[in-house]
Amino acid sequence: MRIYRFFPTGADMDALQQIRGRGPQAGISVTISELDLMKQIKNVLRLGVGNRFILLDGLGTKYEVEIQQFAKNQINCSLVSFRTEERRALPEIEIALGLIKSDRFEWCLEKLTELGVDLITPVLTQHCVVKHAEKSKEKMRRWESIVRESAEQCERMTTPRIVTPVSFSEYIYRPGSGGTSSGDTQDLKFICAERKQAESLLKRLGGEEMSTRGGVDIKHMDSISLMIGPEGGFSEHELNAAETQGWKPVSLGPRILRAETAAIAALSQVASILDMQ
Ligand code: SAM
Repeated sequence: MRIYRFFPTGADMDALQQIRGRGPQAGISVTISELDLMKQIKNVLRLGVGNRFILLDGLGTKYEVEIQQFAKNQINCSLVSFRTEERRALPEIEIALGLIKSDRFEWCLEKLTELGVDLITPVLTQHCVVKHAEKSKEKMRRWESIVRESAEQCERMTTPRIVTPVSFSEYIYRPGSGGTSSGDTQDLKFICAERKQAESLLKRLGGEEMSTRGGVDIKHMDSISLMIGPEGGFSEHELNAAETQGWKPVSLGPRILRAETAAIAALSQVASILDMQ
């Protein structure tokens, strides 16, 4: 029987991370009090007393718990076992994606999560069809629940972070963002440029890029940022500005891909190399 996995939210996640902090012990009680998760467990999945499920603290530890009792405002469980998976020291992978139409953007969030993205930055560029990015809490909550459910489904130990939309110039000039890294980190930054006769991303990842760095394998980078334009592509000004900030233009091949396809294609290339043992 499949054992369901959940990244709890709110007070449930706080409680789980407190258990982590105190050092988990089998047999301690774990309660679920967030309404959405309670509904999912009780009404959607119809789990009952004695059934088990897994909670993930997003920091690399998973906790198997068994339902003991359905109380009025909470589900009382006991901790059966827990296991921490050491996260391989890999670069943080960021996708900075021009804000595209909502349904396609949300579909892309799910796919990028499955492919292992760590950070998703929606970027408002000159040619965005979506002019005014809703920075509403509801929108963020919806995006966060999409990546959380996708991370649960693909059995990740962590959920990607997603930040509120940022303007292109703020993004590429803000210190520390994918745009301008601090001096003491090793960051690779690629801007996907379909009409620039640019070097292929794959070559950049495995070829010259590494040789000019004395063959430093991308696995040893601190971060790899990939920026993809919206439906209307990047403006010439944006491409030039990005290059001045150290972003290297790259090609994903001879065909003009939809933005969401390009994001998945670019991330797949990086993930394939990093996932190679
Ligand atoms: N409106 C643009 C045009 O027709 O030239 C197409 C933009 S495309 C739909 C959206 C984004 O996907 C581009 O800004 C680029 O970042 C990326 N992209 C699409 N195809 C690509 C390719 N073959 N190489 C590199 N990037 C590509």
